[in-house]
Amino acid sequence: MQQNHKKALQDPIFKILSDAASGLALESYVIGGFVRDYILDRGTHKDIDIVSIGSGIALAEKVASMLPGNPKISIFKNFGTAMLRHHDMELEFVGARKESYQRDSRKPIVEDGTLKEDQERRDFTINALALSLNKENFGDLLDPFEGVLDLDKKIIRTPLEPCVTYSDDPLRMMRAIRFATQLNFEIELRSLQAITENKERIKIISAERTVDELHKIMACEKPSIGFSLLHNTGLLDYILPELTALEGIEEVEGQRHKDNFWHTLEVVDNIAQTTDDLWLRWAALLHDIGKAPTKKFSKKVGWTFHGHEFVGSKMVYKLFKRLRMPLNDKMKFVQKMVLMSSRPIVLAEDFATDSAVRRLVFDAGDYVEDLITLCEADITTKNPRKQKKYKNNFKLVRAKIVEVEERDHIRNFQPPVSGEEIIKTFNLKPSKEIGIIKAAIKEAILEGEIPNEYQSAYEYMLELGKNMGLSIINEKKR
Ligand code: ATP
Ligand code: MG
Repeated sequence: MQQNHKKALQDPIFKILSDAASGLALESYVIGGFVRDYILDRGTHKDIDIVSIGSGIALAEKVASMLPGNPKISIFKNFGTAMLRHHDMELEFVGARKESYQRDSRKPIVEDGTLKEDQERRDFTINALALSLNKENFGDLLDPFEGVLDLDKKIIRTPLEPCVTYSDDPLRMMRAIRFATQLNFEIELRSLQAITENKERIKIISAERTVDELHKIMACEKPSIGFSLLHNTGLLDYILPELTALEGIEEVEGQRHKDNFWHTLEVVDNIAQTTDDLWLRWAALLHDIGKAPTKKFSKKVGWTFHGHEFVGSKMVYKLFKRLRMPLNDKMKFVQKMVLMSSRPIVLAEDFATDSAVRRLVFDAGDYVEDLITLCEADITTKNPRKQKKYKNNFKLVRAKIVEVEERDHIRNFQPPVSGEEIIKTFNLKPSKEIGIIKAAIKEAILEGEIPNEYQSAYEYMLELGKNMGLSIINEKKR
């Protein structure tokens, strides 16, 4: 039976599209994500793809001329597409086409095609659904590959032979996994096998596009769905070998360490429940990558990963560079999180002293709350007693950070006594004594020996100078 979805096309823009198309005698359809998300009731998809049997660019020009304010259109001649914005929508126009591919590129040879041929070249049956904009059957659903059934069964399936689809454009492997994660769908078995067979072809996809999909997976409610699929199909070895290197449990003389790969995925899922911050989620994904290269076993202490935080933070730079991710403050943030990722754990295992909290705030600065969020997510113990204890302790640490901060203002610490003042007081030439005095004042504040304020720090400086055998040349009058 022919389904009709006029209701999906209630926005006045669809009437304009329909009028423009009939004026040009161009058969036209809304296709792709908009239709899929409408049927899934996922809210309105703001980028609307329109396919016409003939020139998409001509339709875009006609539509623009009919819209108030005559919006500007961007034309991509090479691709035969055009785009225009209307309110909060992005309309993307393309002429129906059929495609054939060559092995070494994801750039196809494109020819004009029918609607069915255009739907065939779409990645998944659920993305090939089209709604008619034509007068005689406005709102009718055209679904030659049973995409609606797949929506119902929650299945990702390709319209054509999966091996051909993925080999033609290996980006589709990433997209399949991304949609499976976003929609919580299963990838059809034949597709999964085809992805596994074609995994190596991911190499022809630019790092930017791959990362774009990774970001989308990372933004999902349960990113582990995507990362498990990337891992099981073997794609992850090509994209993030640092992560797959964490997989496995070794046992020597009866001593085992945990599987840090699956642990990491748990941490990412945990953090996804408490923050939408993409980069904090990346920090969770990468927090243990230093563990593979630092793993050691010794009879005395068992398994250790000495310095893995430092090694891991260095690896972050290389990984970002390889994947052409930004080498900016976002990367520095991830590095800092990885570097400090074990610091708060000691506080949660034991009673957190004021001075330990002050030191943490001093070192983490404005990132301290994010760091605690990461460490809370890092609690994956299956022992309910420990689980509860750690969670509670982190609550106490959070409260203590607020309390200590109100009193001592350690965040973005500025030395209360300046270098110049030290020079003047003792009439020093630039020398290492100045650094020693400054560091000692900072230590005294962090230890809680003196409060973080000028007068106490000044007096402490005079004391220090005396003990170092310096004479006070210019003492401040009280
Ligand atoms: P979303 O916008 O949520 O990512 P979408 O389905 O709208 O989902 P787009 O990337 O906006 O995805 O692409 C629009 C449509 O173009 C898709 O629904 C699909 O029909 C088609 N498409 C996009 N990329 C590919 C591809 N690599 N291979 C085949 N078809 C594709
Ligand atoms: Mg879209």
